[in-house]
Order: sequence, then structure tokens, then C-alpha cells
Amino acid sequence: MRVERLTGRDCRRLEPMLAPGVRGGVLLGDDHSIDPRRFVGALLAAATHVGVDVRRDHASRLLVDNDGHEARAAGVALGDGSEIRAGTVVLAAGCWSGGLAGVPENARPPVRPVKGQILRMRSSYPFVTRTVRGVVRGSTVYVVPRSDGEIVVGATSEELGFDTTVSAGGVYELLRDAHELLPGTTELELTETTAALRPGSPDNMPILGESALPGLVLATGHYRSGVLLTPVTADLIAELLETGTLPNIGTPFSPLRFHSEEVSA
Ligand SMILES: Cc1cc2nc3c(=O)[nH]c(=O)nc-3n(C[C@H](O)[C@H](O)[C@H](O)COP(=O)(O)OP(=O)(O)OC[C@H]3O[C@@H](n4cnc5c(N)ncnc54)[C@H](O)[C@@H]3O)c2cc1C
Repeated sequence: MRVERLTGRDCRRLEPMLAPGVRGGVLLGDDHSIDPRRFVGALLAAATHVGVDVRRDHASRLLVDNDGHEARAAGVALGDGSEIRAGTVVLAAGCWSGGLAGVPENARPPVRPVKGQILRMRSSYPFVTRTVRGVVRGSTVYVVPRSDGEIVVGATSEELGFDTTVSAGGVYELLRDAHELLPGTTELELTETTAALRPGSPDNMPILGESALPGLVLATGHYRSGVLLTPVTADLIAELLETGTLPNIGTPFSPLRFHSEEVSA
């Protein structure tokens, strides 16, 4: 990616709404952003178009066959008691991946929820023309413009378990930091406040590949980069399902890395 150092004046020439106090920056000319909501919609439409059978149900339990020499994942049971049998199960349930009933302890992904709050705003004039990231009193804040006039301000990072309350403090922190970077932020229409949960792993790296239970593949733990890493994760997991082998670039993210740490500790 191209990286160009900028003075404060360069920054304001590119983004006139930046605060006069901004002393410098770097321009990543090849950086882009997408709208995750539209991305998921497009992905579902594309999958349906090529014949994927999408079932929107809650998986209540992993089915495990114990008939042979070793236990093996065999599908999932749904909330209504029905079952979907499968030779391989991919567990990709975000920060809830560690809580699926029926998964043996040694195959359970060690994921935790990391709360993030964001603000959605609307501007009737071009507020910023590209993603602006800044560090304000040690914490990072970003402002992302969408093509339809939406402006997203993010994001807090909070270790509060499964709490998804939008807090006054979270909104204040985001507005305060965004205002320091781009003073016009507080003039924008505030249209939505959201809190959601990222799936964090012990080293905050993804957890990809065969688990300790044969037939159970994990694709989780993407923490702050799950949208960015969607294509590479899909390619790696598809190749694993097709060939039985995780490509080399995926091996550092094997779920088994946490077990070897336990053994050597
Ligand atoms: C505020 C915020 C800002 C972010 N910003 C960025 C960013 O700029 N760039 C980026 O790349 N990433 C970003 N992320 C991170 C990104 O959203 C996550 O890494 C990504 O969503 C993880 O994808 P996932 O599919 O593993 O989990 P999730 O998106 O959490 O999806 C898991 C799904 O599994 C479902 N589920 C759970 N349990 C079950 C069950 N038993 N049965 C059936 N379904 C189940 C859930 O309902 C959910 O739909 C951000 C996250 C937050 C919260």
C-alpha cells in the first residue's frame, strides 16, 4: 500500500474540515472502505443466486457421532428439535462460538466478546471525502464517509462481556474525540447509535481450521478485522473443505495453537 507523509497543511488541503490543531498525518492512497450491512446483503444474495440453501435458525447443539473409533462432528440440532446432518461442520458464530452446546472442551474456541459502539450520522454536504483516522489523547477514532451521505464514527473497545447497551459514556467519548479531529462533527444529524460484539481470541488473531474434534472446523476470532478478512477466510476455509488441507498462510491461525501453549505451560 502506498504511504505518503503529510504536513498538517497537506492534511487540511485534502480534508478541509480537519481541526487546525492537526499537525500531520499519513495518506494511504489505496485504502478503501465498504458498508458491512450492504456487504452481508450482497453476500447472501450472491450465495442464494448460486444455489446455497440458507437456513436462518439457531443451532442449539453440535451433534457428535461416537459410533466409530473416535468421536466426530456430525451436524447440528436446531431450536425446534430438528437436525441438519453434515460430514463437516464449520463453527463461525462470532463471539458466541465458544458457547455452542455439545462441543467438547478441547475443541471449544476460546473467544470472548469485545464490545464496540459506533455512531451513524448524516451530512447533506461532503463532510470528509475519505476515511479519517486519528489518535486523540491516546485513543483512536475514525470517521468513515459512505456514498449515500452517511458518516460513521467509531469505535469504542470495551471488555464488558455480552453487554450491548449503548452507553452515554461511549457516545460521549466518540463525539468528544471525533469533534477534536473534525470540529464540524457535532453539527451533523445523529441518526443511529449501535453497540455490537467482536469475537476476540487470546492473541486477538483469527482461529481458522480443524479443531481437536474431527469434522469440526472453526472460523472465528476475527476481532476487529472480520469484515476485512472475509475474503481470505472464505478462500482458506473453502480450500480446507475441498482438499482437507488448510493452505500454508492459514496454519499460524490453527485452533490447535492454544492447546500446544497449554501443554508447554
Ligand atoms: C463497532 C465495531 C466496529 C467494527 N469495525 C470493523 C472494521 O472497521 N473492519 C473490520 O474488518 N471489522 C470490524 N469489526 C469487526 C467485525 O464486525 C467482526 O470481526 C466480524 O463481524 C466477525 O464476523 P463473524 O461472522 O465471525 O461474527 P459475527 O459478525 O458476530 O456473526 C456471528 C453470527 O452468528 C450468529 N450466531 C451465534 N450463535 C449462533 C447459533 N447458535 N446458531 C446460529 N447462529 C448463531 C449470530 O447471530 C451472528 O449473526 C467491527 C466490529 C464492531 C463491533
